[in-house]
Amino acid sequence: MDLRSDAVVLFGVTGDLVSKKLFPALYELTRRGRLDVPVIGVARSPWDDQQLVTTARKSVTEANNEVDDATFDRLADNLSMISGDYADPATYQRLAQRLRGAERPVFYLAIPPAVFGAVVEGLASVGLADRGRVIVEKPFGRDLESSRELDRTLRAAFDPQRVFRIDHYLGKEAVEGLYAFRFANRLFEPLWNNEHIDNIQVTLAEGFGTQGRAGFYDTVGATRDVLQNHILQVVALIAMEAPAADDTDAFNAAEVAVLRQIEPLSPQSTVRGQYAGYRDEPGVAADSNTETFVATRLTIDSPRWAGVPFYLRTGKSLPGTATEVVVEFKQPQRSLIPAEGGAEAPANLLRFRLGRGDGITMSIQAKSPGAEVTSRPVDLSVDFGAALGRRQEAYERLLDDAMDGQQLRFARAETIEQEWRVVAPILDLPAAVQSYDKGTWGPADADALAGGWHTPDLR
Ligand code: NDP
Repeated sequence: MDLRSDAVVLFGVTGDLVSKKLFPALYELTRRGRLDVPVIGVARSPWDDQQLVTTARKSVTEANNEVDDATFDRLADNLSMISGDYADPATYQRLAQRLRGAERPVFYLAIPPAVFGAVVEGLASVGLADRGRVIVEKPFGRDLESSRELDRTLRAAFDPQRVFRIDHYLGKEAVEGLYAFRFANRLFEPLWNNEHIDNIQVTLAEGFGTQGRAGFYDTVGATRDVLQNHILQVVALIAMEAPAADDTDAFNAAEVAVLRQIEPLSPQSTVRGQYAGYRDEPGVAADSNTETFVATRLTIDSPRWAGVPFYLRTGKSLPGTATEVVVEFKQPQRSLIPAEGGAEAPANLLRFRLGRGDGITMSIQAKSPGAEVTSRPVDLSVDFGAALGRRQEAYERLLDDAMDGQQLRFARAETIEQEWRVVAPILDLPAAVQSYDKGTWGPADADALAGGWHTPDLR
């Protein structure tokens, strides 16, 4: 294992991501004895150390309801602040001074992508890039070309082994569970192909809108924000072949191999929607054509998946919040047992619930009570929280891994390039987005696309 980082630097420490995710993650790592090194916040806002500690405490309290004072005090003792402009060399000189004793600092760029270049150059100018690790957040570029450009900027200063690209879905235990489900069990893997599977649906639904980030969101939209990264990562885990070995390189190779087999998405089988009222939100262009919803059909050109459509959808202001994969199996080869009432029996479903209340629900046909031999669907369900206890938060695991120099749960440049290749034909489509009402499952055309979506289990 690479040697662990001995300092953490958070650029953009005054921002939303640090407050929602990173302070709670740092607290949790402190509680588990995984973090006892200087944590330096950097921002343009003129904060002092006390302001940083107060904000950290507020955010940890909001995330955890209660805070263990001894743990928080240990974290607070490590926190300090540097305020400065990213264009000013003095900012980096002060940082270098503060990091004198640190041999392997990790730099988290929780700042708008437009400033990544300036910060990376600033770190390089004082020699910090030579010995540091850098964590970058999505969106990783806006398309294939800009993602390559960003990669060149990072590689010009940092060794590629020390660049950590976050797609936090890779850090979610529930998402990693897809991999474990497939390769730690014998049960379903023989059925995991076009002979037995009819279609696969992936839904990443948000029951909320832009949450005060409409100005940012309007420049991005659902395809870039969620489909290109989180949803394609989930597809890769569902569809990949078994890695050739139990190591990071083999895992990445298997992931890239399946991404390469995905056909570029087609505008003809894509529906883009925008919820009514979005254009009235502050920061949104009055004539915005940004999609807050996208549904599409994906195909994989491989022996395993030929002929199996993957239906994907994501959107804001939908009826609830859920992330689900539903694997719909084909009907039995011979239909010997009619469904109750003579209707066609519903298909067997394997539903992976990846969001809150994560777990698996399997829908099978069981014999209906009574004299007739007919069938009725029943669910076999497991709630992983109840069965397995507390799992770690994604950002807690990702920070921990990056501090160890472990790449497994981070996106490779090649993965990201493949993802951009897949979504390229549906970026910036000129056709107007279709309007949908808040609290619905998007425009009506999206229903027709899949010929029947399975409604997510909203819990
Ligand atoms: P914010 O918009 O909250 O910005 C973070 C901080 O960056 C601000 O507090 C501000 O601090 C500084 N900043 C803002 N604009 C500029 C600018 N033009 N030049 C220099 N500094 C600026 O971002 P988030 O915290 O929401 O996100 C940070 C990064 O993480 C982004 O890359 C974002 O895309 C990504 N991300 C965010 C998620 C989230 O849930 N928030 C989720 C996934 C990814 P100050 O003015 O004090 O310097």
